[in-house]
Amino acid sequence: MSAGSFYITTPIFYVNDVPHIGHAYTEVAADVLARWHRQSGDDAWLLTGTDEHGQKILRTATANGVTPKEWADRLVETAWKPLLETVNIANDDFIRTTDERHEVNAQKFLKHLHDEGHIYTGEYEGYYCVGCEEYKQTTDLVDGAGEYAGQLVCAIHSKPVELLHEKNYFFKMSAFADRLLALYEQNPNFVQPEAARNEVMSFVKRGLSDLSISRSSFDWGIKVPWDESHVVYVWFDALLNYITAAGYGQNDEEFASRWPATHIVGKDILRFHAVIWPAMLMAAGIEVPKQVFGHGWLLVGGEKMSKSKLTGIAPSQITDTFGSDAFRYYFMRAISFGQDGSFSWEDLSARYQSELANGFGNLASRVIAMVVRYCDGVVPAAGAFTADDLAIQATEKRVTDAAAAAIDQLAIHDALATVWELVDELNGYITLQEPWALAKKPESRERLGTVLHTAVRGLGTLAVLLSPVIPVATGKLWSALGGDGALVDQRVDLAWEWTGGAQVTALEPLFPRIESIVEPTDGQ
Ligand SMILES: [Zn+2]
Repeated sequence: MSAGSFYITTPIFYVNDVPHIGHAYTEVAADVLARWHRQSGDDAWLLTGTDEHGQKILRTATANGVTPKEWADRLVETAWKPLLETVNIANDDFIRTTDERHEVNAQKFLKHLHDEGHIYTGEYEGYYCVGCEEYKQTTDLVDGAGEYAGQLVCAIHSKPVELLHEKNYFFKMSAFADRLLALYEQNPNFVQPEAARNEVMSFVKRGLSDLSISRSSFDWGIKVPWDESHVVYVWFDALLNYITAAGYGQNDEEFASRWPATHIVGKDILRFHAVIWPAMLMAAGIEVPKQVFGHGWLLVGGEKMSKSKLTGIAPSQITDTFGSDAFRYYFMRAISFGQDGSFSWEDLSARYQSELANGFGNLASRVIAMVVRYCDGVVPAAGAFTADDLAIQATEKRVTDAAAAAIDQLAIHDALATVWELVDELNGYITLQEPWALAKKPESRERLGTVLHTAVRGLGTLAVLLSPVIPVATGKLWSALGGDGALVDQRVDLAWEWTGGAQVTALEPLFPRIESIVEPTDGQ
């Protein structure tokens, strides 16, 4: 890792899934963190992509009369890449596990582990859930109901599991339990939040089994390099995307400059990332990730949204009405990142109206309209600052620093709440200073100038601070304020330093009034 490198990843999308707001939530969180670091002068790099191998995809493709690659191509182009546009993700790379750069270098990794003696041949019999693409312990199974009564079913999928008996290749994961525990002890930030860390530690303390890493009953996957009758277990394959996309095996210089990464994952796949993945890297002699952060569930009507239960709301159902900025703002503000959170149309609508439209959007429109009306659009010079003006400037500095500190902890919700203190203070300042009254009195001309100058500076600070979260609205605001250069090139850690442009131009409402909200009734 080079100084200032910030490599952040989302999980790769399983192409068989339908994009729902849970996927978009993870993407937005990672994107906000990447944008924030990029605007803090770091070499930030956001990776996302698709997970395309495995038995479930083979079966679905076959059922649809196409090859698995054709099936994956179709879903990547019609579902997953469009999702990134829907919620305005500025990813630096998009990896597909069918990319040659992935397949070739994943094989290199596997061969290396084999050569080093970390892989052996064994027999395995167990219950396999195709939905999870995972062998299940009996403790993971429950009695089926309805059409599956009398059978054991996956607790996540509520569908019967299959009893498989295979000759497989195994990764000696059990040998890494002590090193993993030492990692969690010595680096408490490795797995966060704390509840996730505790869960992972107690799981490893119960002892680790070796991991079956190949399958021979189907052939849709990466071939095991020393035995082409086997394909690599889909999770083992998928996890490797984080290094194959960063140059592992093909560009040592690039890899050294990017790795290690911060992984943002849903807590349902925490164990894969916080146990299996670092053990794989330890075996290969590669540095473990910088951090694995498990975010919570989104609850809709009290029910968990996950990649396994398709209780999904399509992100476009929200963005079509509210726009991508509101989607991004809402999920980052309303849910403490790392905790479970509830989505409701009422809450989204209320926050859109009170925080985005009335709180921030209206502030921006009013201040700019006053500069246009009272000063012909020329940003006035400030006279002597009063305590009220200096208090605004102090808040600009304070929230800039506090937001950066919150982002360092991945507490995006705290960063936003902090920035909103400036929104609220500026609104209070305008109400108190009454520039419309000052404008009526010629002797208050200088004071009017100082007030509008202060308000314009505050707005510029807000545009920069909020740019990682609501890039569309802040981009419009920045150009209306006459800010120099592109907003995305402004340093977010120095947002308070901005002292205003020369001229403002009219600003359309950043968050227009939404007349009626039609709640979709399907898919909920
Ligand atoms: Zn399952």
